[in-house]
Amino acid sequence: MDYYNSNTIIYLDGKFEKAINSTTDLFGQSLHYGYGAFEGIRSYKTHNGSRIFKAAAHFDRLELSCQLANIPFPWDKKELIDACYQILKTNKLKDAYIRPLVFCHPNMKLNEPTGSSIFICAWSWDVYSGSKLLKMGLSEFERPNPKSVPMQAKLSGNYVNSILATTAANKNGFDEALLLDMHGFLAEASGANIFTEKDGKLITPSLGNILPGITRATVIELCGVLDIAYTEQKITVAALKKADSAFLCGTATEIAGIKSIDDYIFPQKWTESIGYTIQKAYKNLVLEKVNYEVII
Ligand code: PMP
Repeated sequence: MDYYNSNTIIYLDGKFEKAINSTTDLFGQSLHYGYGAFEGIRSYKTHNGSRIFKAAAHFDRLELSCQLANIPFPWDKKELIDACYQILKTNKLKDAYIRPLVFCHPNMKLNEPTGSSIFICAWSWDVYSGSKLLKMGLSEFERPNPKSVPMQAKLSGNYVNSILATTAANKNGFDEALLLDMHGFLAEASGANIFTEKDGKLITPSLGNILPGITRATVIELCGVLDIAYTEQKITVAALKKADSAFLCGTATEIAGIKSIDDYIFPQKWTESIGYTIQKAYKNLVLEKVNYEVII
């Protein structure tokens, strides 16, 4: 995938500049220790123009991630959202992925940073797909203990765990890795949250040991709108492998049905699952088709 070319414009600390001319210091904690925070945001080509889905929620979480990690966040969030729209416009992007990254000023020690920078870039992203069902494998890696790093923060260093798990899953022939928490309960995928369906009800792991996904919150909102029963609770591997159906949700993943976990194949037909209804409702929501209840 081409993330940028010689014309791409990025945003760095209040300035719009060419990606190929932008530089950073090599002597910093973000590069060396993974001490930074970031977001993954989607924009969609809608009948109202190019629209960023839940931009405010993403920048609120970026600020929270920084606060939880003692990384300075001195910016006005509204200005950052305006900068995202400007980047889309300048780079002529509509269906896109937007990546804000907060990284620390030069300092190689292990104390809290004196200052931080913000970088925002965007690249083109495929229009809503969602048809492929995922083959997932339970990972040998587990999600980090929230007593070692704040798991509700989207911190760069936490993604070493995700990269290791995804790489191992792919080597074992799976599309994605599913990780347990330190107590052996179902946590999340390497870059998405999970819902299971059992007897007409959705179940998702409770907060605490997972990233509180913005898409997860949207699915819960949709359950309210569509009158779908759901609970947030601890899920054992035994219960997971007795579920009728399951799906992943995340900003990049959107709503993706799961075919199997290890050698357990979900018995319910995807197109008859609650996940499928949520998938259609989510698509209508991000595309700002207001009457999504009528459309699905
Ligand atoms: N869990 C992890 C580990 C993630 O990286 C992501 C993607 N940000 C999610 C869950 C889903 O979060 P969101 O819906 O906010 O994209």
